[in-house]
Amino acid sequence: MNFEVTILGCGAATPTARHNPSAQVVNVHDKLFLIDCGEGTQMRLREEKFRVQRINHIFISHLHGDHCLGLVGLICSQHLLGRKGPLHLYGPPDLKEWIELSLKVSQTYLDFPLEFHANSFDGKNLIMEDKSIEVYSFPLKHRIECCGYQFVEKPRLPRIEKSSILEFDLQPSHIIALKHNQEVTLSNGTVLTPEQVCIDVAPVRSYSYCSDTMYWETLIPSIKGSNLLYHESTFLESEKERAKTTFHSTAKQAARIAAQAEVKQLLLGHFSSRYGDERQFVEEASEFFKNCTVAFEGLTIHVPY
Ligand SMILES: [Zn+2]
Repeated sequence: MNFEVTILGCGAATPTARHNPSAQVVNVHDKLFLIDCGEGTQMRLREEKFRVQRINHIFISHLHGDHCLGLVGLICSQHLLGRKGPLHLYGPPDLKEWIELSLKVSQTYLDFPLEFHANSFDGKNLIMEDKSIEVYSFPLKHRIECCGYQFVEKPRLPRIEKSSILEFDLQPSHIIALKHNQEVTLSNGTVLTPEQVCIDVAPVRSYSYCSDTMYWETLIPSIKGSNLLYHESTFLESEKERAKTTFHSTAKQAARIAAQAEVKQLLLGHFSSRYGDERQFVEEASEFFKNCTVAFEGLTIHVPY
């Protein structure tokens, strides 16, 4: 089952020739979720061959422009392309007012409903779930209210090989019971246990997104054990005072959070435009956390087991 993240943009503050502002697509079992929607996101979606109408849930971390200025444009395009189904928007409470005012003054009347889900900032909260995924929000430490997001696969039922189904002549009711860890009695009186036929599927994975935030150990329990962590690293350690005053992180700080949270892999992003070569970020971070890599536009990274 696929669970992967595609980076549409990983630059901080302003779009540059090298970086688009923050946006990424999370593909969970072929369902697409958008996190953040900086300026130009809909063009980036097209470049990466994602159909905009396949996006039904958008998660905005905070209302700084580099994380949300593409949202009104994306909504308008979905309208012009004939969308009818609801679009779910998750983010700070003021997101609703901003979007509704933008649509009102441009006299845009959508043919589909916008469903707003205001994040609270009191801890980790389950904000969305379907049959294969749970999504949580959790507070970050930034200049304005800001949330991170975590995507967690739901456990799947075990598999039963076709050969076992034939061998024991299993009926649908038997299969359902066995998959739910119940013994069954076959027509010939044989008792069959789940252990005899069930095969465990791969363990669940999780992806955590932390942008923007200063170095903040309070967030560690929310992301503990994530298989993949995207953590902002706007600056290198040489700019750590600037990182502090602007409520951002350095590559070293991101790595220290990843190490303490015992994540499997760290993906660095949200780079300041002052840097021309992001390899320095990996060099700095990997001293403190080995399995790290830098984001770039067009990167698709699989959430590891
Ligand atoms: Zn910000």
